[in-house]
Amino acid sequence: MGRVVVVGSANVDLVWQGARLPTPGETVTDGQFAEALGGKGANQAAAAKELGADVRFVGCIGDDSRGWAVAGDLEARGIDCAFLSTSTEPTGVALVAVDAAGENMVAVAPGANRSLAPEAAVDAIEPGDVVLCSCEIPLETVQATVTAAIERGATVIVNPAPPRALIPGAILTRNEHECTHLGGIDVLVAVAPAVIVTRGGRGATLHRADHAPHDQPAFAVDVIDTTGAGDAFNGALAWALVTGRSLPDAARMACAAGALATRALGARAALPTAPEVYALCSS
Ligand code: ADP
Repeated sequence: MGRVVVVGSANVDLVWQGARLPTPGETVTDGQFAEALGGKGANQAAAAKELGADVRFVGCIGDDSRGWAVAGDLEARGIDCAFLSTSTEPTGVALVAVDAAGENMVAVAPGANRSLAPEAAVDAIEPGDVVLCSCEIPLETVQATVTAAIERGATVIVNPAPPRALIPGAILTRNEHECTHLGGIDVLVAVAPAVIVTRGGRGATLHRADHAPHDQPAFAVDVIDTTGAGDAFNGALAWALVTGRSLPDAARMACAAGALATRALGARAALPTAPEVYALCSS
């Protein structure tokens, strides 16, 4: 069986929670602070690993205490970090402020993520891999990853978050708010083997040229926090494809994983195992 190769960001999230968000120039006190490991790439790698995939992570961290924490966590999960590089830039940080209603403001300093070189990604890919690439890294690295994956006979998924440019040849997974400026579904399907649009609590839709759209309804769970549902969805999609599932089956399993990931506060607090996904899919 091939491997899931995740090419993407690793960040540390510094999270402030308070009654209300400050306005520009204002100081709001009385908040609570928490620190969590994040970044789309690292979250997706953790999700695929929790499901039992053999996962390699390609990313870039700073030579600092946050970077050591990121690497330590990935290694403790059993993720292959041979292609995790270190930069002179600091490890990426996301400053997150959340109010009592769950409304948030996020400011990201990508730092070392900006130094993720195309060569690192290209060297990490082997035939039969399923490569999963999100876009909090240099665009040239995303493009080189897709080209190398196609050349080597690997399946490649691009999660265009944040949306930056249309990259032909990869399966695209976007949420319904992302990359509308890159073109409608017809434009995307003309250059991608498949496009999966995730629609939060309404599930996901698989679009392919010459096929009618395939709707996968959401699974009903007791939702606590939807942060990271998309990352769990993408990690699960890669896992399902590397285990030989068809695209409609993989989309169903990914929807189950996305739903299960909403059961606790935080992007990685409720990542499901494979038996949990199978159980929900057969319910
Ligand atoms: P993102 O986190 O990128 O915005 P979505 O919110 O679309 O992505 O969530 C990804 C997937 O997770 C959805 O397609 C769905 O299958 C699942 N999901 C998200 N929110 C819920 C929810 N409230 N109930 C059930 N499933 C959900």
